[in-house]
Amino acid sequence: MIVRIIATGSDGNCVYLGSGGTGILIDAGKWKRDLEKRLLAAGINPATNIQAVFISHAHGDHIRGLTLANKYRYPVFATEGEWKGISGVDDELRRTLVTLHGQYEHVELGSLHVYPFRVHHDAYEPVGYAVEADDGNRACVVFDTGHIDRDMLEMMEGNIYIVEANHDLQMLRNGSYSDHLKARIESRDVGHLSNDQTAAALKRLVQGRGERIYLTHLSSSNNTPALAEQTVKLALWEKGFVKGKHYQLEVY
Ligand SMILES: [Zn+2]
Ligand SMILES: [Zn+2]
Repeated sequence: MIVRIIATGSDGNCVYLGSGGTGILIDAGKWKRDLEKRLLAAGINPATNIQAVFISHAHGDHIRGLTLANKYRYPVFATEGEWKGISGVDDELRRTLVTLHGQYEHVELGSLHVYPFRVHHDAYEPVGYAVEADDGNRACVVFDTGHIDRDMLEMMEGNIYIVEANHDLQMLRNGSYSDHLKARIESRDVGHLSNDQTAAALKRLVQGRGERIYLTHLSSSNNTPALAEQTVKLALWEKGFVKGKHYQLEVY
């Protein structure tokens, strides 16, 4: 499976996943023109290599560039709750992710199979995605969430992990944000993942079979790439796994 982190961080998030001639974007959080430039720079032609966009939640850093879908006529998938916060997508391109018995139905798209699952963030109905490809790869994309619960862990199991590592808890607590904002970011129900939370989840998920890990959505105020990497490496080292030998790790 081809993975391209087109953009990530509080200024905008967008991930491209492609396999067997099918390609999708998870989120489109940079302005359209910027997204087009970044996609082309990553070797992805927005006119031919993308078949749909899936939205995690309707915060600006995830949906800012959605007019890209209007231009190239991609369907846009989002939960019913998140559509309340999204405007500017042509009616005929809107697709709502539906639930059956409390679980989201998956979406078939060429050689990709997309499984949405609930996450915990201050949005109406935010989701993460597991994406299975006919080539046997299974990726998960988990951006903004206050914690990773058991159901999420089950859905995330695979060999490619694109996960938020938002903040280092000490940096956040000692930093300049207001107490209110600090509390919101730390919140398990509506916040963001700390390096420790992400590391703990990866420690449970990674089996040392060459999994690919992408740490994303790092806060520029409350984290550094080195801290995020170190925290995850230490957790996996406790399991006997070494970067480069048992797993691959990239920090954005
Ligand atoms: Zn958010
Ligand atoms: Zn975000």
